[in-house]
Amino acid sequence: MQLYNTFSRQLEEFTPISGKKVTLYTCGPTVYRDIHIGNFRTYLTTDILRRILKANEYEVTSVMNITDVGHFRLSKETNKVIDPVVEEANKLGITPLELSKTYTEQFVKDARKLNILEADVLPKASDHIEEMIEVIKVLLDKGYAYEADGNVYFKVEKFKDYGKLSGNTLGKMDQLLEAVRVSVETDKKDTADFALWKRADDRVMSWESPWGMGVPGWHIECSVMSMKYLGVSLDIHAGGEDLVFPHHEDEIAQSEALTGEKFVKTWVHTSFLSVEEEKMSRSKGNVFILSDLINKGYTPLAFRYLTYQTHYRAKMNFTWEALDGAATALNKIYDIAGKLPEGEGYADKYEVEFLHVLNQDMNMPKALSIVWEMLRSDFPDQNKAAALRRMDEVLGLKIFETAQKLTDIPENVLELSYERDKLRKEGRYMLADQIRHKIENMGFEVLDGKKVEGKKTETKILRKL
Ligand code: AMP
Ligand code: ZN
Repeated sequence: MQLYNTFSRQLEEFTPISGKKVTLYTCGPTVYRDIHIGNFRTYLTTDILRRILKANEYEVTSVMNITDVGHFRLSKETNKVIDPVVEEANKLGITPLELSKTYTEQFVKDARKLNILEADVLPKASDHIEEMIEVIKVLLDKGYAYEADGNVYFKVEKFKDYGKLSGNTLGKMDQLLEAVRVSVETDKKDTADFALWKRADDRVMSWESPWGMGVPGWHIECSVMSMKYLGVSLDIHAGGEDLVFPHHEDEIAQSEALTGEKFVKTWVHTSFLSVEEEKMSRSKGNVFILSDLINKGYTPLAFRYLTYQTHYRAKMNFTWEALDGAATALNKIYDIAGKLPEGEGYADKYEVEFLHVLNQDMNMPKALSIVWEMLRSDFPDQNKAAALRRMDEVLGLKIFETAQKLTDIPENVLELSYERDKLRKEGRYMLADQIRHKIENMGFEVLDGKKVEGKKTETKILRKL
């Protein structure tokens, strides 16, 4: 199985540290708002990777952290370092823990809708403060950190290999400082140093420590939780491409300074998703969350399918048109699967090729084209059915489960759906939504897609089970 390793900047033959066991850590969400479709692109990469590893008979232990404290950023308004969880909770007049609980639950629900396998452990940063304090103490003892006015910083200069993941080394100071960006932490000895512990002045969420009341930094939480649940050396560490620097670079520095062991064997980073060729941003109003897609009538699995059409290391451009295309293609697969008999046997030629491209750095666009090639081929239907079932263990598109829900739709439901399509075409979405509710109350579920063969309606309707 070949995987691209950000560390070596090349494709490598993947071999776990310990036999058939694989440890996988993914940097999880910061839970102060809904998780957007860009975040989910990254989590879908981890999910696919996990499923491909399983297809190769590896036994995977997967951990994803929940960042509910410490993910500081510089406030544009006040030029102060703030914790977005605390800031948002203050705005809403609730406690940070209440806020993060709500968004963690929402994240888990959305991930389920995308058929993302839940991590074996989903540890919260706020539950691991004691462990973080212990690790920071050791780093201080070893001379890798220093205290300044209630803050503790990691001394980058002391870690000779700093920059080995991102290339932002001390030797390239200009580049490094550019990447670190503005710093308001004036008590640091060196601009490149980063916070392990921050003094809490007026923070709602803070803990006692040997350096006074404070909160841990974001990087240290990932080092501590990954090593606690998976051991000092991990097989795979994953996240979005923006995390390479400083987050993952700093995780390496702290972890290796602590243990003296190599922290991670393979680094997997997903490229960003943009919307209509633009970076998602709240000011542009183009930050979409899963319920935006659902409210427009798309099944979350259509988004899952859409992400397969772009390799995870290439930029993905989200458009509604593309999502529509993905929904249509996926509906077509459901249609075809619904007509296949209960199957046994293999479709060797296609299955071998399918696994082969999955094992070439998760080539999902190619994997999809092999699925289509098989479905269009004149291979016996029984074999196709059995093969498609196995392929879907990796694809996670719930093909047969959904196909099973396909049913002859009564004429009165079809009529309503037809009326709804007309209203949508005329842009009368409120009325169209009312009809959707009516259809749902009759026990049917509406999934939009383009023309469905043999039906006068342009909507695919599934019976609710
Ligand atoms: P955050 O909640 O900001 O820590 O982000 C959670 C995860 O989503 C991280 O792994 C990010 O790298 C990733 N991420 C953030 N924005 C995008 C995007 N537009 N496309 C893909 N991944 C993203
Ligand atoms: Zn992390």
